[in-house]
Amino acid sequence: MKQARAAKQLSPRFLPINLSEAKSRGWHELDVIFVTGDAYVDHPAFGVPLLARLLESKGFRVGIIAQPDWRSKEPFMALGRPRLFFAVAAGAMDSMVAHYTPARKLRRDDAYTPGNRHGARPNRATIVYTSRLKEAYRDVPVVIGGIEASLRRFAHYDFWEDKVRRSALLDAKADLLVYGMGESPLLELVQRLQAGEPFTAIRDIRGTAYASSALPEASAATGVLELPSFETVAADKTAYAESFRLLSGEQNPGCAKIVAQRHAERYLVCNPPAEPLSEKALDRIYALPFLKAPHPSYTAPIPAYEQIRSSITTHRGCFGGCAFCAITHHQGKTIQSRSEGSVLQELERLVALPWFRGSVSDIGGPTANMFGLSCGDRVAGAKCRRGSCLFPRPCGNLVTDDARSSRLLANARNVSGVKHIAVSSGVRYDLLERQPRYLRELVGHHVGGLLKVAPEHLTDRVTSVMRKPGRASFEQFRITFLKESSRIGKKQHIVPYFISGHPGCTLSDMVDLALMLKSWGMQVEQVQDFTPTPGTLSTCIYHAGVDPFTGEQVYVPKTDREKGLQKSLLLYHVPDERKNCLLALKECGREAAAEELFGARPKR
Ligand code: SF4
Repeated sequence: MKQARAAKQLSPRFLPINLSEAKSRGWHELDVIFVTGDAYVDHPAFGVPLLARLLESKGFRVGIIAQPDWRSKEPFMALGRPRLFFAVAAGAMDSMVAHYTPARKLRRDDAYTPGNRHGARPNRATIVYTSRLKEAYRDVPVVIGGIEASLRRFAHYDFWEDKVRRSALLDAKADLLVYGMGESPLLELVQRLQAGEPFTAIRDIRGTAYASSALPEASAATGVLELPSFETVAADKTAYAESFRLLSGEQNPGCAKIVAQRHAERYLVCNPPAEPLSEKALDRIYALPFLKAPHPSYTAPIPAYEQIRSSITTHRGCFGGCAFCAITHHQGKTIQSRSEGSVLQELERLVALPWFRGSVSDIGGPTANMFGLSCGDRVAGAKCRRGSCLFPRPCGNLVTDDARSSRLLANARNVSGVKHIAVSSGVRYDLLERQPRYLRELVGHHVGGLLKVAPEHLTDRVTSVMRKPGRASFEQFRITFLKESSRIGKKQHIVPYFISGHPGCTLSDMVDLALMLKSWGMQVEQVQDFTPTPGTLSTCIYHAGVDPFTGEQVYVPKTDREKGLQKSLLLYHVPDERKNCLLALKECGREAAAEELFGARPKR
């Protein structure tokens, strides 16, 4: 009977967003209702639909309330009362990052909303949505997850309020928090509830956190680490940095402890991370019947969907460990790759879609050239507490064999109906040095004249704070790229992306970077101003002013003026920026660099 229900549910239909759609499936009650800050796009690149499809495939009745109006509880009742729980996510981005620029100015757009319209979700959506749900159904459990809840699960520095905030679980008054990728924790939760365990008794699922009045007991398998309390880290920046350092050592599912942090009279208790998904499990998820389209109720285009609709995700995770990036914290350091067959089958399904015209916009993951890579030493990997397999130098245990990734690209090009495949996911060029076959495939077939790479900075002092490869590695890559392009008779260019205003970066570092670009004849079109997003190492340094691992003081540019001048220096070739560049040069005593930067000493 359960199987029959599952089979019926697997018909390729959108998941219900209201009661009449639920009833058309014969569902008078749902098991789990997802509430999300993004529009409902039935595509595996969107986290909530992916989780919802997974539960549906296991026979559960699920629905999605997307971007409800949070000013009253009624929109949260669109699908009635769920039998098991509500699952809340702010969306693919932290709602504060989605709403504000790095200068804390309100954005006018939102790529995850039809018509690119701003204002379809509230600030701190996880907290607001949970509060409305509790108003509507006080006794129904609420499980929060997604990047916002995940990276705010402990006491964390919040750039927008410029203070340390409590755990999102406690602020939201939710019943459970799922962190990282949610498939395994969520599936285990629904299956145990289905088997009759009471919600409040389920306290041991990996990848979850809960509130408790007492510290948990250490088990034989898992010890308990208690972080400095919220009150301590909120008052003391050194304690905040120490807490960050301690927590960083507990990210590996193979050896992580339970981590607890007291908030007044209660503890936030966080179980070890979920184990990475196997290739088979990932393949099964990507074979679910996604319609690869937004729900038909939307009339305006959704920019985020337009961008990814003809892309294929090959893997998850990133072992780069860049200081400013949340991916390693959210998806984990272990690369979880799909099988080649699964990726090619998805490509064949993409080709069969009526709107597909032959171009695949991306085939990759968080870092494209990490597909199929892994730690070569199981025992060392299970105990490893390094934040990056590449920084400060590539680990000797890292297997960088590019046979799988290069073969995948070659075979993907041969799928009938595919005319061109771009690799627009980022690549790690320090890794490419060890991947000659992948490099040849990439440069020869998937660049389209311009390869976007993100060195983020190039002075070694700054890249060491960012945990990125330095100048020598970029120069080596630049030469290899140009040589390989010329060998195959193509004139191709590198488009580099940089961050200004990152901790550790002075005006003088930006002058050095601008001079390097000038010497290579490179011009950047866009500069990303650093945003201290929740939970990253860079954000910890921004707040505490020290590197938590070395205890060394780090210079942090904080004023809008200095951040603006840093940005201008990178845009030295834009006439409107010249005045600011001259100011910046004067301010850091580098006026002599003007001649080199502008070609001739400009008139003052
Ligand atoms: S042992 Fe080396 S390769 Fe393995 S996970 Fe740790 S850093 Fe990465």
